[in-house]
Amino acid sequence: MVNKDEIRNRMDHFTDACKQAGVKLTHQRTEVFREVASSRNHPDAETIYTGVRARIPSISLDTVYRTLWLLNGLGLITTLGPYRDRVRFDANNNPHHHFICVQCGMAEDFDNGSFDILEIPEEVKKMGTVDTVQVSFRGLCLHCSKKEKRKNSLHI
Ligand SMILES: [Zn+2]
Ligand SMILES: [Zn+2]
Repeated sequence: MVNKDEIRNRMDHFTDACKQAGVKLTHQRTEVFREVASSRNHPDAETIYTGVRARIPSISLDTVYRTLWLLNGLGLITTLGPYRDRVRFDANNNPHHHFICVQCGMAEDFDNGSFDILEIPEEVKKMGTVDTVQVSFRGLCLHCSKKEKRKNSLHI
């Protein structure tokens, strides 16, 4: 869970961005954004849908998808992945980096000042302009590596 102050910041930012873009602040949009904004796990659309449905039982998966892409278009969330074709959504707009589990898709944020100011390689500059730099480390999360170990020990 993201801390309350940070969620409040994100919700304020959401309200401002919608107003600025002339996007109507509906209850559904607010709740979809809140769901992404309060999660640290970069949830995919189905997970977000399950969370929002607890508060708005009538919402459809389709609406959740459309809302997520709308929020993405407004620059309020970014996407991560694709991980086995399930795009994950991220409401952390501060510079940050990720650890991603290749097994379960868990993606966790971490901050690192020296990665934020990584020098952009000439090669990349030739490809276009860079807005953000995100470093991702991929591997097995603690939970999955424990499971792997258990599996291996059963085979011995
Ligand atoms: Zn994992
Ligand atoms: Zn993130």
